[in-house]
Amino acid sequence: MTSPTAPVRVRFCPSPTGNPHVGMARTALFNWAFARRHGGTFVFRIEDTDAQRDSEESYLQLLASLRWLGLDWDEGPEVGGPFGPYRQSERLDRYAAVASQLLDAARAYRCYCSSDELEVRREAARAAGRAPGYDGHCRELTDQQANAFVAEGRPSVVRFRMPDGAFTWTDLVRGDVTFPAGEVGDYVLVRANGDPLYTLVNPVDDALMQITHVLRGEDLLSSTPRQLALWGALGELGIAEGPLPEFGHLPYVMGEGNKKLSKRDPESSLLFYVEQGYLPEGMTNYLALLGWSLSEDQDRFSLQEMADAFDISRVNASPARFDLKKCTALNADWIRLLDGPEFVARLGVFLREQRGMHLDADGVDTVRVAAALVQERVETLGQAADMLHFLLVEEADFAVDPADAAKLLTVDNHPVLEAATGALGELENWSTEAIEASLRAALIDGLDLKPRVAFGPVRVAISGRRVSPPLFESLEILGKERSLARLESAVQIASLP
Ligand code: GLU
Ligand code: ZN
Repeated sequence: MTSPTAPVRVRFCPSPTGNPHVGMARTALFNWAFARRHGGTFVFRIEDTDAQRDSEESYLQLLASLRWLGLDWDEGPEVGGPFGPYRQSERLDRYAAVASQLLDAARAYRCYCSSDELEVRREAARAAGRAPGYDGHCRELTDQQANAFVAEGRPSVVRFRMPDGAFTWTDLVRGDVTFPAGEVGDYVLVRANGDPLYTLVNPVDDALMQITHVLRGEDLLSSTPRQLALWGALGELGIAEGPLPEFGHLPYVMGEGNKKLSKRDPESSLLFYVEQGYLPEGMTNYLALLGWSLSEDQDRFSLQEMADAFDISRVNASPARFDLKKCTALNADWIRLLDGPEFVARLGVFLREQRGMHLDADGVDTVRVAAALVQERVETLGQAADMLHFLLVEEADFAVDPADAAKLLTVDNHPVLEAATGALGELENWSTEAIEASLRAALIDGLDLKPRVAFGPVRVAISGRRVSPPLFESLEILGKERSLARLESAVQIASLP
């Protein structure tokens, strides 16, 4: 790979609209890894110039999401830096100044066309087989014409004057990309009400913040010729100092059925993974695979390994498929890799933060003892929490899953539950081994049942579900009193017709 010569400065610059999604997280990760790989600076900028759509809640979620993923930023909100502020809503004076400089230099002009007029002319262009972009109507207005529009009370937008000619750049991911001459029309930088648009603020800040590499999703490919052109103008006006940044467009992320992963798919939201108890290690590992890999034969690698090895020229240009099953399986690997105490600690945080459970000292002890029973069996912390729920729930709130009850707490199984209750009631030494011996004697030997038939109803009675941690250990941890109470109420349920 070729290493950048100047110090690397990359940015992650989402708009705080709605939930952070996995595509965004992938963009953040690749920028972060590129910065770390080259000893550069990872800038986090918030593009919140659209007051209608932006929200404080979403802004806070963005910060929390990057922190959850473990992607630390060198400049940005709550961290500061030499090019701040890093929220565009706090930089409006800069954009206004740049817009007037562009107007003064005639690199931009005021356009007085109404949207109805534009629509009519676009239709006509389409019908005549001409390019549908802005037709340049106001490009060369005389002062007199402009003044007449103003006198009419017409509002005006600020449009950038696109230079003639084709646009070509060598994309870090896609190689040479060309937009032929005439394809990109003059575009709006500032709305009639004075609000600056993404088309202006994004390249202006990239210039002011001395960004050297722009790594972002392929959906933004068509804005690149416009931004290159604007950078050119900013350079001529002395607003941009350094050379043009290099661009790399990361591949689309496809969901089910090879459609672009949509915001409506639940698995597209990063919060989904936080709430289900995926590990950040698993998530960053899987996100990395959406376009990159450490090597052909190694799917599992840590964030640090990625940072050490990341090579933008090895990012695959073809669309990546988001496969929830693969993501989950990888997460399960990462769960098994945690050492015992770390798994307990993560589970504790998950129970508190995602399940709102405030465990007392006994609860903490229970988790510590029981975690080992489930660590190998779950793919997410959420599954672990579900499996251990029966141990942590207040006795009054314990309930058997209705479907599992209907299957196993039946009249047919009534004798099994009675025999188990009787045998365990007499047990003095409440240990896993003694519990197992007593249940085997009562049910397998005593009632001549197969283990599956014998233990299924007992499992549902005490854990509430057909899937649980190992039964005898579970009984030991639950304790004699609670186990018997649950068995007795299962006997009641099973005696109902
Ligand atoms: N705020 C833009 C977005 O979220 C940033 C795009 C870019 O990286 O240039 O789509
Ligand atoms: Zn116009």
